[in-house]
Amino acid sequence: MLHRKINWTTLVFVASYHLLLVGLAPFVFGALTWTAWLGFGFTFVAGGLAITAGYHRLYAHRAYDARPVFEWAVLLASTLAFQWSALVWSHDHRLHHNHVDTDKDPYSVKKGFWHAHMLWLFTYRREFDTALVADLLRNPRVVFQDRYYLALAVGVNAVVLGLACLFMHPLAALWAVVLLRIFAVHHCTWFINSLAHVWGSRTYARELSAVDNAVLAFLTFGEGYHNYHHAFAADYRNGVRWYHFDPTKWLVRTASFIGLTSRLRVIQDVRVQKVLVSKDKDLLLNRLAAEVDELSVDLSRKLEHLADVFDANVAALSGALAEFRDASKEKRALLRIEIRRLRREIRANWKAWVALTRWTARRYAPAHCH
Ligand SMILES: [Zn+2]
Ligand SMILES: [Zn+2]
Repeated sequence: MLHRKINWTTLVFVASYHLLLVGLAPFVFGALTWTAWLGFGFTFVAGGLAITAGYHRLYAHRAYDARPVFEWAVLLASTLAFQWSALVWSHDHRLHHNHVDTDKDPYSVKKGFWHAHMLWLFTYRREFDTALVADLLRNPRVVFQDRYYLALAVGVNAVVLGLACLFMHPLAALWAVVLLRIFAVHHCTWFINSLAHVWGSRTYARELSAVDNAVLAFLTFGEGYHNYHHAFAADYRNGVRWYHFDPTKWLVRTASFIGLTSRLRVIQDVRVQKVLVSKDKDLLLNRLAAEVDELSVDLSRKLEHLADVFDANVAALSGALAEFRDASKEKRALLRIEIRRLRREIRANWKAWVALTRWTARRYAPAHCH
């Protein structure tokens, strides 16, 4: 009885706006003024950022704290994205992280690209686990948004549509500022569950399907650095390098300057690298153990040696930093030099490590046949 397993409301909603978008297209092209594109752009950014900064990093991952006024902005603007309440969204997303790539993952990419992208929405049976979102259930704003979600979503979108009609033809307002915006925000968010688990590089957690992809980051306000995100989900950043495009991070950081957000959680570089070194080492040593050539023996030895040196330097650094705290003035001067030297060493160790592991991973790729 397939029809009983289908979430008809979701299916009809998603199917109708796609059909309307295509069906109305021939009639609106003449009416699409620059104001229509501006309205589209503005609501796309507002709805998209509310999901990435709010639903995702604030609520699902608690990667920073926010003032109530910031939360309200997020909880209202997010209704432009039509992704149901922050509570439900975070519930499913926490399941995704806890059980990624398994059957318990609501949008597991292992069930196929289109399942992860959107098909899961139409058949998903949510067994709501209150313990998983106990913290959010204590937040009255989140609970309010969940209880009145439909009314809020209809209200906010009606106001936006009404405002848009003041500046453009009503049909253009409906098509560009509502339908096209919902379409764009939906598919960009969905790309994170589909494309960002398929197309890109796995730098931080090679065992996961999640990948880092700059193109996707561009489309999703920085969420495309998804491999890093799965490896270090508590970090409020997804793009951790200065050149990474992560407007969500910029927004949260900027808001912190005026006190709207606080306690932004970051994973320190050295800590990230330490996890990576130990993970890479296990993975590659395992892979090399299956090889019989001399090179693999040599490489295993090199990997172990480099990892040991790296770990020793990191331990020495944290020792020196701890000592620094209660040291006398003269001792501090000496320690400062030592800390600088250790940081330099660690940077060099890390570079050597990345070069060696990249080369090894390529030379002994899993599909490599002899
Ligand atoms: Zn996440
Ligand atoms: Zn994911």
